[in-house]
Amino acid sequence: MKIHHLEAQAALASLNTAADGLSAAEVARRFAEFGPNRVEKVAGVPLPLRFLREFTHLFAVILWVAAGLAFVAELADPGKGMATLGFAILGVILVNGLFSFWQEYRAERALAALEKLLPPKARVMRAGRVEEIVAAELVPGDIVLLGEGDDIPADCRLIEAFGVRVNTATITGESVSQGRDAQPSQVDEVLHSRNVLLAGTSMVAGEARAVVFATGDHTEFGKIARLTQTARAPMSPLQREIARLSRLVALLATGLGVVFFFIGQALGLGFWENALFAIGIIVANVPEGLLPTVTLSLAMATQRMARRNALVRHLPAVETLGAASVILTDKTGTLTTNHMQVKSLFLGGEYATPQAFAASTELRRDYRRLLETALLCHDLKATGADAWLGDPMEIALVRMAQAAVPDFQALPRVDELPFDTDRKRLSILQRMQDGLVLYTKGAPETVLPLCSQVVMGGVLRPFTPELLALFQRAQEDMAEQGLRVLAFAHQAVAAGYQRENLERDMVLTALVGLADPPRPEAAGAVQKCFGAGIRVIMVTGDHPRTALAIGREVGLIRTDQAVVVNGEQLARMSNIQLQLALDAPEILFARVGADQKLRIVTALKRKRHIVAVTGDGVNDAPALKHADIGIAMGLSGTDVAKEAADIILLDDNFASIVAAVEEGRAVFDNIRKFLTYILTSNIPELVPYLAFVLLRIPLPLTIIQILAVDLGTDMLPALGLGAEKPDPGVMKRPPRPRRERLITWQLLARAYLFLGVLEAATAMAAFFFVLKGSGWHYGEMLDHADPRYLAATTATLSAIIVAQVVNVFLCRSPRDSLLTTGLRGNRLILVGIAAEILLILAIDYTPLGNHLFGTAPIGWEVWLFMLPFAAGMLVLEEARKWMLRRWMR
Ligand code: ADP
Ligand code: MG
Repeated sequence: MKIHHLEAQAALASLNTAADGLSAAEVARRFAEFGPNRVEKVAGVPLPLRFLREFTHLFAVILWVAAGLAFVAELADPGKGMATLGFAILGVILVNGLFSFWQEYRAERALAALEKLLPPKARVMRAGRVEEIVAAELVPGDIVLLGEGDDIPADCRLIEAFGVRVNTATITGESVSQGRDAQPSQVDEVLHSRNVLLAGTSMVAGEARAVVFATGDHTEFGKIARLTQTARAPMSPLQREIARLSRLVALLATGLGVVFFFIGQALGLGFWENALFAIGIIVANVPEGLLPTVTLSLAMATQRMARRNALVRHLPAVETLGAASVILTDKTGTLTTNHMQVKSLFLGGEYATPQAFAASTELRRDYRRLLETALLCHDLKATGADAWLGDPMEIALVRMAQAAVPDFQALPRVDELPFDTDRKRLSILQRMQDGLVLYTKGAPETVLPLCSQVVMGGVLRPFTPELLALFQRAQEDMAEQGLRVLAFAHQAVAAGYQRENLERDMVLTALVGLADPPRPEAAGAVQKCFGAGIRVIMVTGDHPRTALAIGREVGLIRTDQAVVVNGEQLARMSNIQLQLALDAPEILFARVGADQKLRIVTALKRKRHIVAVTGDGVNDAPALKHADIGIAMGLSGTDVAKEAADIILLDDNFASIVAAVEEGRAVFDNIRKFLTYILTSNIPELVPYLAFVLLRIPLPLTIIQILAVDLGTDMLPALGLGAEKPDPGVMKRPPRPRRERLITWQLLARAYLFLGVLEAATAMAAFFFVLKGSGWHYGEMLDHADPRYLAATTATLSAIIVAQVVNVFLCRSPRDSLLTTGLRGNRLILVGIAAEILLILAIDYTPLGNHLFGTAPIGWEVWLFMLPFAAGMLVLEEARKWMLRRWMR
């Protein structure tokens, strides 16, 4: 008999386990035998193969062809240095491939490290105690406790279930949730059995206890996963834009190469020399290293965000975050600490503090049901005598009640009507000494209408409209002080009860007010959002007055004109009305259900906002998915919400969202910084060729020297710019418009027409300085090996490097002066510059460098000559920035 055919007890016995779980020793033994509960990843593309890929993509192929041609040319037309060029290109392929591989590997490792930050957890009963463990440590025979929104960590057989519904879409493709119970089943297939929960699916409602019968690769999911795992993540829009840019530049370069080829032919240059010349230009201008640099800079941003407690699940979210224009945020736990404390009780028309309540035997007797509700009506899991896992509000209630009755003994739970954000209440049916009792707690609006009597002192009174009004006023008074108010109620239930008939004619026990202080950092973070042009809108399930009070405390609401929309009003609004309502400068939503959150998200998106939304429950998943950025709570969030989200907050804190937005904006800025830097040097590489053709002078910069810049000296400083910290002003400007491209005309103009031109001037001046100094006169053509020519090209190359060293610092901000950005604050840039300088010294002053790059040592006076030019570039860029800043003001 298969496990789903058996009775629950027999199922436990068949796995040699019991309702209170396995002993520690047995767990260890089984773990050793069955291994970790993890679906082993089918190894993706093996490392060596991925390494090879870096040498076989389109750009690399272009380079291989170029190298091949160079060697052919050497054979056809020896002695022109073609072999050197061939070797240089091979070197380029190697360096470039290694560098790209290294960057991608690092990016991948960074992302993999993040996955480990938040391992899936499971609650198990072992040796009679509830523990929270990493799901990978589950073994067959473990008893797991599951609640709404939990992922099912392994294949298990239900032994107790209240209102359980599961979503099995991941396994069966069925998207409608299905009911599950603990009864033995008749069907053949374990897959279709009603008493089985499969790993990889999730529980969308209810509470359950189940025994694990298969873990890891033995689960149904494990069997399927092997078949369906895909290796590659899709490219983010940013990566796609970079790929497009690379192709565009490559195309331009090719066009340029072809044009130069024909010009060369017209000038009567040798065919081979000319062909290589063209290929060299193509090679030099193809931005091979760009895409891996972008990927790495995104991955490094995710690491910085993780350090600030925002875990990014999808790379594209990094860039979208930077553009966020509205944040829809929960209140409880996000803006507030979620350290709840019972502050006030409303008992039969009188207020009492919990301390007074605990001290008075009379009150404790009259409102016995209040204590019972607090102690029994919850979904907490006790992990010890005084420790629980679960909702902090429920823990606060249990603590309060335990202070009054320390030695409470509970009989088993009989049934449960679970909490959800639409019902806004929880009911537990409990066996008591005096029969079955249903205990309910929840939002007063949903509980008061269920009541027909009320406890007043020691007696029950009919719940008249006058009394209803009295309690409603009390609720509003408490809410006004920022307290969350719950109504408690109870009801005696006959043995043969019908589930549908529960929660009727109840007895109202009391109102309870809980304080949940705002997080100290929330007000500052809200302030920062205002400065950054980001709207913050609170969406809460709590009472409007409570919401308003907290909104005031954190600075979200500052006037008396705030619009408060509650769930009922929202339900009556059309989409158009909602969109118009959102024009109000201050608005908050209270008592809304999770499905209504989706409506608000949609309305804001229609208003062309980039919407970030937070959520924790199962019902939040659609809103999280639909928003531009879904943010799930790492501590209080359900697994279902986390899976739907792009970002998980490790500390549930609103301030962490703001920090992540800041990093998101920085990434975008940084990519622009290194793009500007890299594109700038294309101009001083191009101008020498124009000069050569148009002015009929010796070629001031050889192809190999271009390669030395593009694939050598430029690489590390560019990487440094990609790792810049967010600049201080980043949260003082409005969000980037949705349509704004990464590469704008301003960026291109600054790089090509301004910085590039200045660099080209520096380089050409250095070239002529050396050439003139050596007695060259206009019109004289020099031999490739002429020492005067070698020294002159060396000067061009060195001048480009000097200018690029200055340029790194200029590129640290498109607007701010060097006096603000400074020279320090980014070690990677300094390391990059040091490497750059060492490299150019090696090229200029070592025999090997001279041989490989066709250079010759230059005198100190040449360096001295370059300095004013570099300084000029600095001054002119500072002037441009100064004017820009003035103009912007
Ligand atoms: P929030 O947006 O503040 O997190 P929720 O949607 O979680 O609000 O809760 C909405 C309302 O439901 C609360 O104001 C409270 O009245 C009620 N509620 C919340 N949690 C529970 C619970 N565990 N049991 C009963 N009622 C609850
Ligand atoms: Mg909540």
